[in-house]
Amino acid sequence: MDDKPIDKADILRELEELHRLDHDYANGRILGSMCTEAHPFAKEVYCKFLDTNLGDPGLFKGTKLIEEKVIQSIGEMLSLDKAYGNIVTGGTEANLMAIRAARNHARKYKGIVDGEIIIPDSAHFSFKKAADMLNLRIVEAKLDDNYKIDVESVREAISDKTVAIVAIAGTTELGLIDPIEDISKIAHENNIYFHVDAAFGGFSIPFLKRIGYDLPVFDFSLEGVCSITVDPHKMGLAPIPAGGIIFRCEEYLDVMAVDSPYLTVKTQSTIVGTRLGASSAATYAIMKYFGKEGYSKIAKELMDNTAFFAEGLKEIGYEIVCEPELNIVAFNHPDMDANVLAQKLEELNWKVSVAKCPVSIRVVLMNHIKRNHLEELLEDLKEIF
Ligand SMILES: *Cc1c(COP(=O)(O)O)cnc(C)c1O
Repeated sequence: MDDKPIDKADILRELEELHRLDHDYANGRILGSMCTEAHPFAKEVYCKFLDTNLGDPGLFKGTKLIEEKVIQSIGEMLSLDKAYGNIVTGGTEANLMAIRAARNHARKYKGIVDGEIIIPDSAHFSFKKAADMLNLRIVEAKLDDNYKIDVESVREAISDKTVAIVAIAGTTELGLIDPIEDISKIAHENNIYFHVDAAFGGFSIPFLKRIGYDLPVFDFSLEGVCSITVDPHKMGLAPIPAGGIIFRCEEYLDVMAVDSPYLTVKTQSTIVGTRLGASSAATYAIMKYFGKEGYSKIAKELMDNTAFFAEGLKEIGYEIVCEPELNIVAFNHPDMDANVLAQKLEELNWKVSVAKCPVSIRVVLMNHIKRNHLEELLEDLKEIF
């Protein structure tokens, strides 16, 4: 730190120079991100709530009510009449809370100490962090030929130490939806906590179903589902950080509660102490602003772009890994390794991401990628050969 105060203008100049090193969503070159530019209205609301602290809700009663309203309305979107949970920093923290609830619940009611969680091979790496922090062993369920969790393999993985089963609604790499109804049945029959990670798909699947897309059921209408992760800062167009964790019953929050002596409330169930109210306010505002109709329109546009891009790829000799269920296209060229192809695209200033299973180029068709960007990209992909 400098000894003397520095002029605002000088500070801003320095910061802007560094900010210029960042990539900008607006030019449509960021192809592998699950986040996008937040809606201007959400950003405006966010700034108004920067000083609110939901870690001390007695001091911020209004903002706490906003969080409760937003959780309730995400819950309704996921077929739950009365929802419990929090707006957190993202999918990682939401998944960590879900697994912590499951672990504590199993410890309290089943006496399980060295617990295990069953997750598909396609699960987001946040579950590795959760397992590490919570001292749980990961048991990986296999994927079937369509890259979805293999139901039999989940059944076989269950033991008397299983504290949770996880399935994904919108996988990070391919955007696929696991057979959640089947897994829900297995979890329910075996009295095991079932968590659905819809960090990516949560803000699109309900709206696509609403306008007639034939997608599987993934939400609380399935009796086995205990919690769902859904990220407003991905498909919800809310500013970062905004993740959501929704629980079916309050008990899952209760088993995580610790005393919080110096605060205005007696206990706290979240991982983070001092936490932003701005995320809740911005998410609330943008959900009201779009409504089901607005989100459906966005989801449909992105699916149209997805179909356009997948078709375009096939026409120029590329192979897609699977028919997209959501707005992600993963592809390969039969004559070139995906990493080499990724390198060539990087040289053409496209910011791509390479999927691991299977190795392929992965494009997440977020709101900042428009038709003209896709046309340019297809043109470049054609020129490479
Ligand atoms: C993005 C993602 C996460 C992690 O979310 P963050 O907001 O990056 O912490 C977890 N699960 C899935 C399925 C995701 O796509």
